[in-house]
Formats: sequence, C-alpha cells, structure tokens
Amino acid sequence: MPICQNCGKQWTWSQTVKTIFKLKCPYCSKKQYESASSRWKGSILSVFLLLIILLPLNILFNFSPAAALFFGFVIVVIMLALYPFFLTLSNEKEPYW
Ligand SMILES: [Zn+2]
Repeated sequence: MPICQNCGKQWTWSQTVKTIFKLKCPYCSKKQYESASSRWKGSILSVFLLLIILLPLNILFNFSPAAALFFGFVIVVIMLALYPFFLTLSNEKEPYW
C-alpha cells in the first residue's frame, strides 16, 4: 500500500481507491504524486492485462464487440483494485526518465 511521503502514514486500500484520481493524503491532506517507477509498473500492468488476458480470450471465444467492451471494463476494475498494492508516492511530480 502507498505511504504518504509528507507524513509517513500508510494508506489503506479503501483510502487509496477513494483518492485514486486526486492522490490527496487522507491524514495530512497533502497532494501526492505517483512516483515514476510506480507509473511504469502501472503501464506495464495494463499492457500485460490487455495482451495476456483479453487477446487470448478474444481468440478463444470470438467475442462480440459488446462482450469485448464488457471484459475491457472488467479489466479496468481489476486494475483499479490492484493499483493500491503497487502504487508508490512522491511529494513532487517526477518525470518519466
Ligand atoms: Zn500524509
């Protein structure tokens, strides 16, 4: 779970999900940013999920576009649920490189 770089408190899963788009610390209300390494992990995870899960399933079951959309939605939900486990925070916006 992510740890606030300002006050050092660890966020719970539900606190992280609640603030996932704002990343504001529930303890000290300081704005946090996703660290560069965490963003990389996020991008790799999304590509991984899409390629490893969606594509083979699509070929196996020959989804209709509606079913593919539904599974895309399920994958987004899974990603949001997993996100707090590998999210790391930073006090400042970090560049990718
Ligand atoms: Zn804090």
